[in-house]
Amino acid sequence: MKGNLHSHTTNSDGMLTPPQIVLLYHSSGYDFLSITDHDKVTNTENLKREGIILIPGEEISIGKLHLVAFNIRREIRSKDPEDAIEEVKSQGGEVIVAHPYWSSLTIGDLEKLEGYLGIEVYNATCEVSVAKGYANVHWDTLLSRGKLTYGFAVDDVHVGDLLPRKRPTDACKGWIMVKVKERSSESLMESLRKGLFYSTMGPEIRDLQVENEIIRVKSSPARIISFISKNGLGRRFFAYDKPLTEATYMVKNGESYVRIEVEDEKGRRAWTNPIIISGEE
Ligand SMILES: [Zn+2]
Ligand SMILES: [Zn+2]
Repeated sequence: MKGNLHSHTTNSDGMLTPPQIVLLYHSSGYDFLSITDHDKVTNTENLKREGIILIPGEEISIGKLHLVAFNIRREIRSKDPEDAIEEVKSQGGEVIVAHPYWSSLTIGDLEKLEGYLGIEVYNATCEVSVAKGYANVHWDTLLSRGKLTYGFAVDDVHVGDLLPRKRPTDACKGWIMVKVKERSSESLMESLRKGLFYSTMGPEIRDLQVENEIIRVKSSPARIISFISKNGLGRRFFAYDKPLTEATYMVKNGESYVRIEVEDEKGRRAWTNPIIISGEE
């Protein structure tokens, strides 16, 4: 299932109304959407459409931390980050730490915070508006230090398709592809908790196999396939005479995790979640 977990409407600082945002993502082929207005839960009951699952959510602001909460029913009241995460979980939801680069979060901020499911490795509106969309450095540092967390690509859409064509819009630029047992929000949440998804700006991860120490990945045509690991470990593969559609990697000593990035000829990326290497720290 294809979906975006971070979006705003006219109920906070977005430019599209709730029905417009649902229509935009529904007509763009998304299977699920979470509306996450600032510090309020937008009611999705009367917005239902065949073929798209709407997940109620909220973007909680606590100081410089913005926490994207989804699959909740009521506004979160806690003003302490970890209490807020607990409150979200008690309602059946999960939390992603939004746009670490844009928020000037340090690794220490992210390392000491407990209970969140992942960070936004790519936030489209932060990239389109102020060139602060990526958080791969935050992600790899956390993973290198042994803190397992997932990476999410999101739109954080505010403008949608209303912008004049002078710059790219922030809609449909970053999303996740989730492997689910069935098309339901329960199944979706179960898969997200297990990390059964990849993030992308366009490239497809078509297959990923791990057997003993060998990792094999297949993708849509790519310019670069990177196996990224702790500190100076890992490796990149570049396309020469023709685009890459697969790559194989053998895990080296000391690699506590390996994650894969695929980049196409337009510079758009896709990210797998980390593969944790057992026997390492
Ligand atoms: Zn935010
Ligand atoms: Zn936001």
